Amino acid sequence: MPEVKFEVDVDSPPDEQPGANPFNRWHPDIPAAVEADVGETLRLEALDWTGGQIEDNDDPNEIRDVDLTQVHYLAGPVHVNGAEPGDLLKVDFHNMGPLNDRAEFGFTGTFSQQNGGGFLTDHFPDAAKSIWDIDGYTVSSRHVPDVRYEGKIHPGLAGCLPSKELLEEWNEREQELIDKHEEDPDSIPNHPTGEAEPGVANPPTEEGAQMGEMDPEEAEAAAQEGARTVPPRENGGNHDIKDLSIGSTIYFPVYVEGGMFAVGDFHASQGDGEITFCGAIEMPGYVDVEFDIVKDGMDKYSVDHPIFEPGHRGPNFEDYITFSGYSVTEDGEQRYLDSHTAYRRACLEGIEYLKQFGYTGQQALHILGTVPVEGRQSGVVDVPNACSTLALPKGVFEFDVSPGNLDNSADRGDLVVTDNPLE
Ligand code: ZN
Repeated sequence: MPEVKFEVDVDSPPDEQPGANPFNRWHPDIPAAVEADVGETLRLEALDWTGGQIEDNDDPNEIRDVDLTQVHYLAGPVHVNGAEPGDLLKVDFHNMGPLNDRAEFGFTGTFSQQNGGGFLTDHFPDAAKSIWDIDGYTVSSRHVPDVRYEGKIHPGLAGCLPSKELLEEWNEREQELIDKHEEDPDSIPNHPTGEAEPGVANPPTEEGAQMGEMDPEEAEAAAQEGARTVPPRENGGNHDIKDLSIGSTIYFPVYVEGGMFAVGDFHASQGDGEITFCGAIEMPGYVDVEFDIVKDGMDKYSVDHPIFEPGHRGPNFEDYITFSGYSVTEDGEQRYLDSHTAYRRACLEGIEYLKQFGYTGQQALHILGTVPVEGRQSGVVDVPNACSTLALPKGVFEFDVSPGNLDNSADRGDLVVTDNPLE
């Protein structure tokens, strides 16, 4: 086993960890917690993305009340000796897994529309939770009966610290979107409107910020401009790509000296799109990483975003049921080649289909969020309709879910859904 260079204790709060404190903002001045040489393999552990706010119980209000200013708690930064701005940092994920000796469960949540929301929040405005048992790489849930499968394990989040200039650019462009929304809420396509809507972006906030090993005074100032880790950006970040599992390689643009790599938000499994937002099977985990440096790689390969070589590790499913959607809203409004709307419609088709087999809508939502479904942009040229598809692997169900098998319909209980939504 490689040396554990960043260790977590899932029973302690995020600011009382045994080694270096995890951090939860992107800022160029966060000091290195780990140093690594090229060619060395080291193990990094991370808390779950909320820092332990969700427990193995039947209380959905933990999801309703989750403090999202704290997310995501990351391991690192790792200073890779020799990496300089303009290089590409090559990161190999040799192995990864749950912290099974310390935490044997994962969780999935539907966020409340008033706190976080999600892709289908206008259909599922109330908070709900499912707890998943993690047995090696196999997952199952008492809240979602008759589903059991090998998950597609991956870190939802991996990236490098931004330069000062890049951070300023992020803050500026995201603030512009926030301002635009404030001026005219209807001007933002695909954003659910109404009083209880989630924000269009999350500006920097000191609230909930943890800046790793920065000294407290400096940390306070840095938190006022540190970018939230919610969206993916040019440094990688929260890209939630399910295929970056064991055996994957990522090339990250290096924006600061040492690269300053960070990782976290482990998922036991996730479907393309992570449609519930708290949508994967969230858990603490570890990854064994090895670094290399491609000198001047950003120029040589003309990239300023990460590039990925996904590994070959399964699960590899053979049989799927594929749902399709087009860029027409639920209200019948024709949109122009809008893949977002098309994917929503494909997901809603899948949810309605699963309901016929006895699942509730919330259960179906959690199935599509956690099972390694393949989401595709099948067509983006056939005006006016984009076509998106969602392919659901049949093998994750313990019964035949193909058309023609409605005899297999049964009462399958429900998730735990809050009975006291936030006002
Ligand atoms: Zn996650």
